[in-house]
Amino acid sequence: MKLYNSETRTVEEFIPRDKNNVTMYTCGPTVYHYAHIGNLRSYIFEDVLQRALDFLGYKVNRAMNITDVGHLSSDGDTGEDKMLKGAAREHKTVLEIAEFYTKAFKDDFAKLNLKWPEIVVPASSCIDTYIDMIQTLIDKGYAYISGNNVYFDTSKLDKYYRLTNQESRDLMVGVRDSVEEDSSKRNKNDFVLWFTKSKFQNQELKWESPWGLGYPGWHIECSGISCSRLGEYLDIHCGGVDNKFPHHTNEIAQTEGYVGHKWCRYWFHVEHLLVATGKMSKSSGEFLTVSKLEEKGYSPMHYKMFCLQSHYRRQLVFTYEGLDSAKSALNKVYAKINALKADNSPIDQECFDQLVEKFKNSLSNDLNTSLAITCVFDVLKANTNDNTKLKLLSEFDKVLGLGLTQTKIEEEVIDAELEGYILEMIEKRRLAKLEKNYALADEIRNTLLKKNIELIDTKEGTKYKIK
Ligand code: AMP
Ligand code: ZN
Repeated sequence: MKLYNSETRTVEEFIPRDKNNVTMYTCGPTVYHYAHIGNLRSYIFEDVLQRALDFLGYKVNRAMNITDVGHLSSDGDTGEDKMLKGAAREHKTVLEIAEFYTKAFKDDFAKLNLKWPEIVVPASSCIDTYIDMIQTLIDKGYAYISGNNVYFDTSKLDKYYRLTNQESRDLMVGVRDSVEEDSSKRNKNDFVLWFTKSKFQNQELKWESPWGLGYPGWHIECSGISCSRLGEYLDIHCGGVDNKFPHHTNEIAQTEGYVGHKWCRYWFHVEHLLVATGKMSKSSGEFLTVSKLEEKGYSPMHYKMFCLQSHYRRQLVFTYEGLDSAKSALNKVYAKINALKADNSPIDQECFDQLVEKFKNSLSNDLNTSLAITCVFDVLKANTNDNTKLKLLSEFDKVLGLGLTQTKIEEEVIDAELEGYILEMIEKRRLAKLEKNYALADEIRNTLLKKNIELIDTKEGTKYKIK
């Protein structure tokens, strides 16, 4: 398996410490709101990575936290706890909010056919672990108490900025934190391990600690859960690119300070899903969820197909046009699979091995999922019997999780859907012309033409022809 490692910024051969127990850690969701489809892009690729490794003969053990405390509005330790914001928005308690959105997140995983990681831990359930870790960091001289909080001293490390470039990050903290600098910090990038003092006295979840009643910082959660559940050595750590700094940078600093040696070998970062105005984010108010897409007639699998057709290290701009083509491509695949007939013909071993080899090569080439999807089309076009095709598709679906051999869809369903769409566009164009909005009318005609649908205006109204 060849994978891009964000730490070395190169594609490397993936060599875990133990092929039969590959340790993988995934930063989990902050459960103050629904996961948006940008968050889910990261989880889709992390899932495919785990399944691909399993398919290629590794055995992965994966852990994920559920952030229900300590993630403040700004990643630079300022602002209100996001969970409190969620609770205030919905007039509920933090625990009620956490429970509700954890369940919603689990439902999204099920809809997208993503494997729930082997170990999933709410951050608020591991307080003793963080206290032990923080005390060790104080004893070793990596942490200090100031202004009633405990901070990590970033000047104690030679290579604090390992995942990012220092100058740009220094600038970024200045830009992002329009809030005043915390005067209790010794260095600009020092971060909080344990809060007892906060501008927001309504913090709901607090615990006793050697430093007073308080709560853990966000970064220590992932280090604590990873070390206590997966051990002192981690093979691979995953997350979205926004977490490289400060979150993952701080995870490395405090974990290596604690364990006293290199901690994680490979860093896997998924690029962002963008919308016209920039990165899709929860704080920007309006965001898309899987349920909203379902209301608009797209299945979670259509969105998954849309994601898998692009590479995880490329930014992806979300458009309904893009989602429409993914939908129509996947529906055609389903319809062709439905037409295959399982019988007693023997498996065509040569063809089977050849296509499995191609599929494996796509995955081991830095998780090239769009090439892996091409292998599905190769199977459907292959000159072999249906039994062989069905066996290949069910093998590939172990990684892609697109429901290839389970989803029942007929050609007529697709035709009806397509017809509905065209008729809707014809009506929109008619109304545009009535309002003398000829630019929009032309745009509609051209959009359809790009999809090989030609509009023909007749005395009886507009007809269409599929070219
Ligand atoms: P959060 O719930 O905000 O802690 O984020 C959960 C995961 O989603 C993290 O791994 C983030 O890095 C990732 N993430 C956040 N926004 C996006 C986006 N627009 N596209 C892809 N991944 C994202
Ligand atoms: Zn994390």
